[in-house]
Amino acid sequence: MTEDSRIAVIDATAAGKGKRTFTREAIGAGTRSICGVLEKHHVPAKIFLVEEILAKGFPEEFTTLFLSGMSMDKTAIRKAIALWRKDHFGKVVVGGPITSELLSALTTTMADIIVIGEGELTLEELLTKGCLNGRNDNSFAGLLEQINGIGFFSTDGKPKLTQFRRYSTREEFRAFQASTARITDYPNYFSAKVYVEVVRGCSNFGGTRLRLPDGRQCIECGACDGGSLERRAQCPSKIPPGCG
Ligand code: SF4
Repeated sequence: MTEDSRIAVIDATAAGKGKRTFTREAIGAGTRSICGVLEKHHVPAKIFLVEEILAKGFPEEFTTLFLSGMSMDKTAIRKAIALWRKDHFGKVVVGGPITSELLSALTTTMADIIVIGEGELTLEELLTKGCLNGRNDNSFAGLLEQINGIGFFSTDGKPKLTQFRRYSTREEFRAFQASTARITDYPNYFSAKVYVEVVRGCSNFGGTRLRLPDGRQCIECGACDGGSLERRAQCPSKIPPGCG
């Protein structure tokens, strides 16, 4: 990143269409994990709730936009990206559970980059290779092709996924620290249930039995139903863990 880089990190988790009708009583760990990586690389960042941004707009001083959310939050994410692109030219990076939709997460949000699965090592590579600098064009496509665990638009405008990144080892996981400073960006941090990450993995390691949009289908082998988490993640039909 350049010296004047500042990243707005939007938490869209459970925001749905962007108009929250209930108070958020829990704060997830993902956005603070990502802010921890940015702090390690001395890149200033601030977390915002998506509904806050959709209601009041973006503060001017940010150069890059990160968003995190689930599939149900696609509408809120798309609205925030549209708002960003009215006044900003910086890159848009989408992460979180929504990216388990793979290419569809890229083409429906029209982010510049999606980060699939665990974000720390991928983000670190994007930062150190300078891929988050500059405008939202695809001039970095050549570099991006070499980074595992992302999706982006290639120079001919086609959506593209790189190879999946392997799961981080225990040592790699321990090498990162989530930001503690950024918790105060959440307006109700003092009264909310604040999640901290002590074990990594989905609380539901079962794969979905429903057919995925790209045709992948569970063959009911039962491997994801019990046993070691590592074994449960090795699905013969390449169904990602979660929501089974
Ligand atoms: S491991 Fe995959 S194929 Fe086997 S039961 Fe789970 S989702 Fe189905």
